[in-house]
This record gives sequence, structure tokens and C-alpha cells, in this order.
Amino acid sequence: MDEIEQLKRENEELKKVNAVKSDLISISAHQLRTSLSAIKWTLRMFMDRDLGELTPEQDEFIKKAFNSNEQMLKLVNKLLVMNHADDTSILFNFKEVEISELLDNTLVEFSDEAKKKFIKILVTRPESDLPNISCDKEMIHVVMQNLIENAIKYSHPNSRVAIELKHNKETNDIEFSVHDSGIGIGSKDKEKIFNKLFRAPNAVEKEKTGSGLGLFATKNIVERHKGKIWFESEDGKGTTFHVSLPALPLS
Ligand code: ADP
Repeated sequence: MDEIEQLKRENEELKKVNAVKSDLISISAHQLRTSLSAIKWTLRMFMDRDLGELTPEQDEFIKKAFNSNEQMLKLVNKLLVMNHADDTSILFNFKEVEISELLDNTLVEFSDEAKKKFIKILVTRPESDLPNISCDKEMIHVVMQNLIENAIKYSHPNSRVAIELKHNKETNDIEFSVHDSGIGIGSKDKEKIFNKLFRAPNAVEKEKTGSGLGLFATKNIVERHKGKIWFESEDGKGTTFHVSLPALPLS
């Protein structure tokens, strides 16, 4: 057997192993998510006093358990998305989406987190004339979640996160950007920032929880939408992430 034939076979084998690994991740993550969701709703019932009054101490511990559970749910969701984003055999479900509305729905999810750190989220967007995009709504939702979550997570308390949505008429792209004045990304770390599982030392120091999966998945998702992602950052001063996605013609 010649060398090329051998390489082809090995490649096929690797693809099969990868598909099995991908299925395994997906099955485990779905099962974990089901259990974590059940825990979430039980804890929620305690917090809403559906199961009777709580002492302040019990209330505090239930809240702690709820927050840890939420962290785990987020991680499992990220794992699921990353598994999809990385696997081109899983097809995205492209539909026409109003990007401004998707941003509003995403922002609601972060209002508590921002409030806790006294971070003000400012949004700039055109009043009208923002074309729709053709995308997998759940996936672009994840892109927005990852960038906004990071901006809040790596920001200092009492600061601002500025989000912008605009239409580049020359290229007919929708541009989405998220700016923070947080810890920034050191020049040595910039080239590794989209690598799977990479976390920069200043990020690890600031935030113990993190997976290094978010930006990897985000880049995969954006590129599968024929879009682009890039950033500017200064160590200790802040970061701006930009995403551009092809827009549909204005109707
Ligand atoms: P994580 O779960 O660690 O936040 P991500 O994949 O979302 O993982 O991001 C990868 C790394 O990129 C982070 O650990 C951090 O080092 C860096 N990073 C991402 N967003 C920011 C930001 N807004 N400011 C500073 N560093 C960032």
C-alpha cells in the first residue's frame, strides 16, 4: 500500500474516532444539562419560598448553591455549543433574523451580572434601516453571550461596557462590537486568544472560573456564517471585539 493510501485510511479512522468523541460529549452534556436544570428549578422553588420560609442563613446557602449551579449550566451549554461549532458535520439552522431584537434578548440575561459589578451597559445602534441577517439564531445568540459575558467578567467594577451595532453599507455587513475598559490582553497572548482552552494569565488571576472555550467556539461560529471576528486590546486598558456578518438585502 502506498503512503498516500495509508494516510487516507488513517485520516478516515481519525474522523470516525472524532465523531464518536463528539457524540459522547453531546450525550454526556445533554444528560448533565437535564440534571442541572432539575436542580436549578428545585433551588428556585426554595428561593421563591414555594416550600416555606427560610432563615437568612438557609437563604444565603441556597443562593450560593443556585449560583454555582448556574455556572455549571453555562459551562455545559458552552461545551455543547463548542462541540457543534467545531463539528462541520452538524448543520446550522439558517433563518432570517432581526439582529437588534436578538441583541435585546441577550442583554436581558446580563442585567443582573452587570448590576452586581456596577457596570453600565451602553448600546449604540441605528434607529432604523438595519438589515436582517441569515443565521442560526441560537449560535449567533451564543456569539453575543460570549463577548458580552467576557466584557463584564474582565471589566473592573464601576466601569462601562459599550456595545455597538451598525450596518457597513459598502460591504453590506452587520458589525457588532463590544468594548470594555477592563484588564486587556497582553501582546504575548494576543495570537493565542482564539485557541481552544487558552486562558491568559491575567484572566486566570482575575477570574478563577472560565473554560477557554468561548472564543474558540465564537470564532468557529462566526466563520461558519462567512463572517469575521477580530479585536483590539491594550494590556491593563481594555478590549474591543468586533464581529461582522453578511447582511441580507434591505427589504
Ligand atoms: P474564558 O472562559 O476564559 O473567558 P474565552 O474563550 O471566552 O474563555 O476567552 C479566552 C481568553 O481570552 C480569556 O481567558 C481571556 O484571557 C481572554 N479574553 C477574552 N475576552 C476578554 C476581554 N474582554 N478582556 C480581556 N481578556 C479577554
